[in-house]
Amino acid sequence: MRGMTDADCIFCKIVAGDIPSTKVLENDRVLAFRDLYPKAPTHVLVIPKDHYANVAELTVADPALAGELLRATAEVAASEGIDESGWRLFANTGSDGGQDVFHVHFHVAGGKPLGRMLS
Ligand code: C5P
Repeated sequence: MRGMTDADCIFCKIVAGDIPSTKVLENDRVLAFRDLYPKAPTHVLVIPKDHYANVAELTVADPALAGELLRATAEVAASEGIDESGWRLFANTGSDGGQDVFHVHFHVAGGKPLGRMLS
């Protein structure tokens, strides 16, 4: 199933080119672009071009696409030169999870020691 575009979604607008972004990887189904407000020296968002609200919705609707996204995160880490030093992959989900944009996205962050989360 192909996801839809949400007219009110800021990341759908980035996919459409209506809002500019700094792209670091793009193919038919996946886009990676630099976070506009980076929280680490490298901070890239990896998204499906189709609109799914979160990881749960995506993995039910199109698990192959979820796999493509994961592969893209590793490709981004390598192209950003942080695959050897280490990097963090995360997807904030829902309000308690700190999700602000409800178009599923993986954060790829690194370029400095990030410390530990939740420990
Ligand atoms: O996981 P969460 O939904 O909070 O992440 C949204 C991310 O999208 C934030 O890191 C924010 O800086 C980024 N963002 C962006 N460009 C925008 C709006 C938000 O890179 N125009």
